Amino acid sequence: MSEYDIVIVGAGIVGSLLAARLAPHARLLLLDRDVSGLPGSTGHAPGFVGQVNAIPALSEVAQRSVRLYNSIPGGFATAGGMEVALGVHDEPDLDADIAAVDALKARAALAAAAGLPHRLLSGAEARALAPTFVDQRALAAVHFPSDGLANAKAIARHGQEAARAAGATLLDADVSAVVKTASGFRVDSSQGAFAAAHVVVATGVWGGQLLPSLKATAVSVAHPYGYAGKRAARPTLQPFVRFPAQHAYARDHGTRDGIGSYDHESVHYALGRVGALDNAYGDWESRIAPALNRAITLLPPKTAESFRNYRTPQRDGVHEVSAGSVPYAFNGLFTVTPDALPLVGALDVGDGAGLWCAVGVWVTSAGGVVGVLADQILEALGKKEADGVDADLRRAFDPRRFDGRDEGELETAALGKYNDIYNKAEQEAKPGHKRQKSNL
Ligand SMILES: Cc1cc2nc3c(=O)[nH]c(=O)nc-3n(C[C@H](O)[C@H](O)[C@H](O)COP(=O)(O)OP(=O)(O)OC[C@H]3O[C@@H](n4cnc5c(N)ncnc54)[C@H](O)[C@@H]3O)c2cc1C
Repeated sequence: MSEYDIVIVGAGIVGSLLAARLAPHARLLLLDRDVSGLPGSTGHAPGFVGQVNAIPALSEVAQRSVRLYNSIPGGFATAGGMEVALGVHDEPDLDADIAAVDALKARAALAAAAGLPHRLLSGAEARALAPTFVDQRALAAVHFPSDGLANAKAIARHGQEAARAAGATLLDADVSAVVKTASGFRVDSSQGAFAAAHVVVATGVWGGQLLPSLKATAVSVAHPYGYAGKRAARPTLQPFVRFPAQHAYARDHGTRDGIGSYDHESVHYALGRVGALDNAYGDWESRIAPALNRAITLLPPKTAESFRNYRTPQRDGVHEVSAGSVPYAFNGLFTVTPDALPLVGALDVGDGAGLWCAVGVWVTSAGGVVGVLADQILEALGKKEADGVDADLRRAFDPRRFDGRDEGELETAALGKYNDIYNKAEQEAKPGHKRQKSNL
């Protein structure tokens, strides 16, 4: 049985970046059912990266991620991001308009507190900055110029190459179990068994399969994302746009535009269902279609028209349709957690020490989160002195933080987070938050 210091299971953006960080220091094996194919969420993540977050730990790791992604060729486009308040009610609703603009001001205040560049814009200024996505219904916006678009696949592949160059072994293998042994762990896979002192499970929506203790905290959900018909590339890249009150977001993908929506009841993919899938696509669901259709109506008519009659292939047909030029939409799966924070760290400090997880991590967080975890593992290997620098982040991401809590309540809380993806609840709970009078 081959022996390693560390086996990482899962070569999405998280496992691949972690492998790159740890490979120079340890004998490392990175396993995935399809290392280069990226069959997980990373393979179809549209890559919106916003660094402003009502949860400071998430803002911190997003900023670290942007620094890392900017250092990776083709990893990040600093297109900027914009949150836009729209006046889109059937009847005039001044209160709703004021609330939407005030929410933007609260976001600007968060950016200021985090030291992130930002600017409040009038509706006309927002339209001028992103005419493809914003029309005269915009009331106001806040622009974050250092936000942008991550190429999750390029980042993951860069991590894989860096790990390989540092001596790591990368192998296509399906892992069936991680078993505690007297000297560490045995990882059983379709390519045989491997012994390791440390095992990291970074298996995305399949997290609860190898680690049943994450069943109620790493919860897989369906998410609709659509691509417009193909077109020529535009000369300049416009900022990505979020419409927070409508739970929708849109971007330029180069030769197509893309749009997603959270404006529907969360659709849970239980472990048994996810376990049967070999990639992170679900079949198209009629339950998620109305949300995407509503989101498209928020776009200027010409852009909305480019999504018209979008096709909705079943999961096995998405790649074929995406290779063509017609508009299409798909159901992508990702993980939500009860408090919107990732599950990253040691799973057991006792006899089981050496088993780690990194699950529920967004592309936005991955670069920063991986650094926090890598330091913990290097300390455990005796390759780094403990310095306490990221103690708060380690505590915030600790996968054992929900131990002892009711599983049903945890799952419900995680599903609720799907409809509060921008963590408005945390923003509104902040002591300084109050409705201000708008002067925009
Ligand atoms: C439609 C959509 C839109 C999104 N938009 C954004 C966005 O705008 N911004 C953002 O930050 N995030 C976004 N996300 C979320 C983001 O894509 C994920 O959080 C992130 O890619 C997860 O990366 P990962 O490495 O943890 O998991 P994955 O990429 O899923 O990787 C897990 C890997 O583990 C492997 N694996 C699983 N089980 C086993 C096993 N038993 N044996 C071997 N290998 C195994 C899988 O093959 C897979 O490659 C979006 C996701 C979707 C689906």
